[in-house]
Amino acid sequence: MATFMQCKGLTKEFAGRRVLDGIDLKVNQGECVVLLGPSGCGKSTLLNVITGMLAADSGTLACRGRTLDDPANGIHVAMRERGFSMVFQDFSLWPHMTVSENVAFGLRMQRVNAPHRARRVQEVLDQVQMGAFRNRRPDQLSGGQQQRVAIARALAVQPDLMLLDEPLSALDARLREDLKHELARLLRETGLTAVYVTHDQAEAFTLGDQVAVMNRGRIEQCGTPEVIYNEPRTQFVAEFLGASN
Ligand code: ADP
Ligand code: MG
Repeated sequence: MATFMQCKGLTKEFAGRRVLDGIDLKVNQGECVVLLGPSGCGKSTLLNVITGMLAADSGTLACRGRTLDDPANGIHVAMRERGFSMVFQDFSLWPHMTVSENVAFGLRMQRVNAPHRARRVQEVLDQVQMGAFRNRRPDQLSGGQQQRVAIARALAVQPDLMLLDEPLSALDARLREDLKHELARLLRETGLTAVYVTHDQAEAFTLGDQVAVMNRGRIEQCGTPEVIYNEPRTQFVAEFLGASN
């Protein structure tokens, strides 16, 4: 399987404290890699380094053979040049724009013309079952509906990589369950490459082709859900999976 992205030895410090402590991670084309770990272990920081929002202190990050980060050689490719889409826990929709306008925004930035834009907006809204809501504003939608729109907005620009940071954490249990299975279907059907952050083991095992278990700025183990579950390699992995059962 083709390697899409590879991180080697990534580190990041905040105020002298090492939050990423030598991250090695490989993401294959078309796969969803889940970063699973307790609060504070560095998941969001790693995601933000991958998007380019944060610059790593050392190590390298390459995507399809192109180096995006290599601080030792002064390389840091800007976020907007990476072609990645991000979905956040708090939806982050623009409150003054309708659903359609929110989803069309990135396409407008890419100078996609109006007819193509309208077609693409309808297509992605249909993919997340929100076609009927296109003229509403975010405050007229439930949390689950807002997150569907945010997912449609991220999909619209046909990103090379989707990054999702705890996208279901703000939803109540029932909505979370529904959207989890829909996201799994969407990722399968679109063949998108994704990095998905969660602290929830069930989510990790439903969505991940590979699960990378993180602890204190390191990846303790990365493997398929079956391997992680059946053959935990460290005490931490065994205990973390056991505790969230
Ligand atoms: P997670 O997403 O796994 O919960 P984070 O990556 O958000 O963890 O945070 C990892 C650690 O880094 C935490 O201890 C957090 O307080 C710290 N941290 C994150 N962002 C910053 C920042 N901008 N400045 C200082 N400390 C930060
Ligand atoms: Mg986080």
